[in-house]
Amino acid sequence: MKKDKQPQYGRILVKLSGEALGGASGVGICPQAVRDMAEHIREVRELGVQVVVVVGGGNIFRGMAGSERGIERATGDYMGMLATVINALALQDALEKQGVPTRVQSAITMSQVAEAFIRRRAVRHLEKGRVVIFGGGTGNPYFSTDTAAALRANEIGAEVILKATKVDGIYDSDPKKNPKARRFAQITYLDALQKQLKVMDSTAFSLCMDNKMPIIVFDSYKPHNLRRVVMGEKVGTLVTG
Ligand code: UDP
Repeated sequence: MKKDKQPQYGRILVKLSGEALGGASGVGICPQAVRDMAEHIREVRELGVQVVVVVGGGNIFRGMAGSERGIERATGDYMGMLATVINALALQDALEKQGVPTRVQSAITMSQVAEAFIRRRAVRHLEKGRVVIFGGGTGNPYFSTDTAAALRANEIGAEVILKATKVDGIYDSDPKKNPKARRFAQITYLDALQKQLKVMDSTAFSLCMDNKMPIIVFDSYKPHNLRRVVMGEKVGTLVTG
């Protein structure tokens, strides 16, 4: 990479699934996995890019899984939202240990551990160079943290959502089952819908499509991949209008 190359974006939103913080098993919190994700975020912040992170909670609890086992859906969803705050605190700890100033904002008020989500305040933190981690999803049951990512990205004026996953993009079929599966470098929202490719849940996806928010799905486990995406390298799959 040439030294004089500039980052492609000024403000990004990284969507980290809970699984990414759970290490190999994807369950619970794996300190090394959290450190690795923090390192990737530090790398892009050092490029001068403003970074917001929306964390998932699937490594700890999902409302849907709870409701299949007899927990009321809304209650389970709140449990899932609380789980995302646990993840946010873990990520905050790892980032601060790497010298990155952060703030956690939660969509569910929890004043002892996190600021409340206040849009203007979040933007101010970004301008001051702090990484802002959004926990608590949207604050509403029946939604997902992908929807929170789509909502917050629009609200705070992020230029792109970088969806960190285990796979290196969007394929025309499951690459684990089909060795001939083809990865898209770029795809339109409409094509993704027509081909029924699961980029995000439908609420999150329509929020992005309606507001022309680009999404890049990429493999976050590969070192320096987040940096490469931000530098405009053709990594993962770009979903756009
Ligand atoms: N959740 C919710 N509303 C939101 C975001 C999340 O109810 O706005 C709950 C929901 O139960 C979800 C859980 O929190 O299953 C964890 O979030 P998600 O499944 O999106 O996490 P990820 O798959 O990214 O780890």
